[in-house]
Amino acid sequence: MRTHGTKPAPPFLIFAKIFTMQFRNFKMIGYVVYGRGAFNQLDTILAPNRKAEAPMIFLVDHFFEGHTLPGRIPLRGNDKVIFVNVTHEPKTTYVDSLARQLKDQFGTVSGIIGIGGGSTMDLAKAVALMMTNPGSSADYQGWDLVKYPGVYKAGIPTLSGTGAEVSRTTVLTGPTRKLGMNSDFTPFDQVVLDPELTANAPANQRFYTGMDCYIHCIESLEGTYLNEFSKSYGEKALELCRKVFVEKDTWNEDSDDQLMMASYAGGMSIAYSQVGVAHAVSYGLSYLLGTKHGIGNCIVMNHLEEYYPAGVKEFKYMVQKNGIDIPTGICANLSEEDFNKMIDVSLGMKPLWENALGKNWESIMTREKLRALYGKL
Ligand code: NAD
Ligand code: ZN
Repeated sequence: MRTHGTKPAPPFLIFAKIFTMQFRNFKMIGYVVYGRGAFNQLDTILAPNRKAEAPMIFLVDHFFEGHTLPGRIPLRGNDKVIFVNVTHEPKTTYVDSLARQLKDQFGTVSGIIGIGGGSTMDLAKAVALMMTNPGSSADYQGWDLVKYPGVYKAGIPTLSGTGAEVSRTTVLTGPTRKLGMNSDFTPFDQVVLDPELTANAPANQRFYTGMDCYIHCIESLEGTYLNEFSKSYGEKALELCRKVFVEKDTWNEDSDDQLMMASYAGGMSIAYSQVGVAHAVSYGLSYLLGTKHGIGNCIVMNHLEEYYPAGVKEFKYMVQKNGIDIPTGICANLSEEDFNKMIDVSLGMKPLWENALGKNWESIMTREKLRALYGKL
């Protein structure tokens, strides 16, 4: 805490500061169901949330087109399944066009149900909010800018690790930044955690998304924002990640169960703290090069010994044990202008840097230092 002049603050000011301390009062998700086969309860879960003629809209990851999962969706009346393209991470333009299409076709809807990885869950949250908020989703990228509650929304993950199922944000790439619609209206009303849905995901993808959770834990547990709430969830999530990626030699049903709970607990841990260096740097990559979140975090984590020595050592062990490729040299042909864009995006993530390096972070993470780090990737 900086004070003016050199004199220490008078005791009454310290006393006043302690008694006016504000703790984050955060909004949680509404309902959670967990278990193998929990997806089969979806019809019963949705029934009380249906409004007259208004349909439920199921945004389903395009990976599942032609698979059996869409046939298990409990469609009623004029419900609609839309296969969403998540080749690229969600953009504000995509969110706006989906919301506009639904308003034009139905006027209003009973709810938006996202079935897929983190990208699909973020799309579902954002489209649900844009059914009731005016303008573009780009207007709401930031903290507490969303004006009205959205329509009912449920998230059903098919990959584990991002924590998007529990978070109060939906990360979007907009015209000028990659930033979430962070608000109390953003968390899902319902999440359905069914580990059967994550079975058979490709090993590389499972690893990249799983490492998002591992990295959330390291950044939260090593961060300056840590409190016992974050620590309790972060330690549990880390223990589960280790069971999956360090202790076991082959993937089995338990791995899907454990990683799904790791993701949930990892998300709860950062709800009360923040992520850190890997995420702040990875956001720059993603903004400029479109590098996807999970793999981008891995590319950066590979070079963060200075900040997270034990975590990076274990990360490298997991990469090797699980036979995963982490790309290198992705910044090799970039111009100085490109580097500057990434640096601007990254340094804009102030809470992440403050959590990672403390209040003095600007004097530690200079533009030159960050330029050198990007140069290594
Ligand atoms: P993803 O949703 O981007 O999906 C990655 C790939 O896996 C896609 O090609 C998808 O089609 C495929 N896929 C999904 N489920 C599958 C399955 N069961 N089997 C086979 N393939 C499957 O990946 P992700 O890592 O889960 O999510 C990353 C996204 O999550 C990013 O957009 C990131 O910004 C976002 N994110 C959000 C939060 C939040 O709090 N809202 C937190 C972290 C990350
Ligand atoms: Zn993440």
